[in-house]
Amino acid sequence: MLLYIHIPFCSSKCNYCSFNSFVGKKGLWRDYLDALISQFNRWQQIKPALFETLFIGGGTPSTLPSSFYFQLLEAISPFLLPNCEKSIEANPTASREWIAQMGKIFNRISFGVQSFNPDKLHFLGRNHTPQMAMEKVEVAFESGFKEINIDLIYGVKGDDYSLLEKDISIAEKLPITHISGYSLTIEEGTPFAQLGTEAQNLDEELQLWFIQRLNSSFPQYEISNFGKTCRHNLGYWEGKEYRGIGAGAVGFEKIPWKGNRFFRYYHHYQIEKFIGEPTPQKWEEISWEMWQEERIFLGLRSIVGVPKAILTPSQIERAKELTHSGFLKETPSHFHPTSFTLADPLTLEILEG
Ligand code: SF4
Repeated sequence: MLLYIHIPFCSSKCNYCSFNSFVGKKGLWRDYLDALISQFNRWQQIKPALFETLFIGGGTPSTLPSSFYFQLLEAISPFLLPNCEKSIEANPTASREWIAQMGKIFNRISFGVQSFNPDKLHFLGRNHTPQMAMEKVEVAFESGFKEINIDLIYGVKGDDYSLLEKDISIAEKLPITHISGYSLTIEEGTPFAQLGTEAQNLDEELQLWFIQRLNSSFPQYEISNFGKTCRHNLGYWEGKEYRGIGAGAVGFEKIPWKGNRFFRYYHHYQIEKFIGEPTPQKWEEISWEMWQEERIFLGLRSIVGVPKAILTPSQIERAKELTHSGFLKETPSHFHPTSFTLADPLTLEILEG
């Protein structure tokens, strides 16, 4: 299965961010590490697992010192499969030393670059410069990371063809293997919520052009992901079980002590509360219908596609009709979309079959 560990610390808060992350709280690092390890060990006692991927996300994992991860990995490593994909997220403000140390225990790194335009970075509330981002990607490459991702945001006020083209052309010159391209969404409770759509550029033609332009250098394999496939994310879209650990982390597993049924589980969001009670706080049973709906939707957003084995005969008939109309492609085992952007309506069409 997959393993996700959440690091809810950041050094500043970006204007668009609604992730579970907190600024400061340095005094909690040690206790947070202990809580993560204790939760991991507890799970391994009651439901032992081996992991094909590890993803450390946030927040900003690079806020914490490298020693934190050496201790964390010491506890976890015996349960990682030999070819495990081990990813960690980082901010371009991470030190060269930190990145070099991480290169010893992780094989994939993901930088929150967002743009190489200084004004856009300022508007987004990012605390790094374009130069820092370029430099740290190079450092990661020199530190032996086999896979390097950068996140880019589009659909932001001020975006135009020239700005986005420059972002992509700089990225093309860097030793990266992957780009995650996210369109800006306005989340409640963020500074951008006050600006509303004024913070966005909703020009659909520009957004479509950006996706196609990314795709020309980094093949698109999911609506927001381009380049060499991230096995961890692919696992989510394939409907694999994932263990989630940490404040605000979500997991999805078959639970032996709950009748071997599938559950999604949620933890305390507040770091202090998680440290006091590092166990799932809310359990949501995932029925077969819910699981099937998610598989169809996530499959249609990505190269995973929809396995025929999970569809009813009438849903297969509906999918075949959509194939004749040119919206899907059929292989012996799957249906694949002709465009990832049609995932929503196609899911509804198939489910109504
Ligand atoms: S660095 Fe990432 S997690 Fe932290 S505030 Fe910015 S967007 Fe949110």
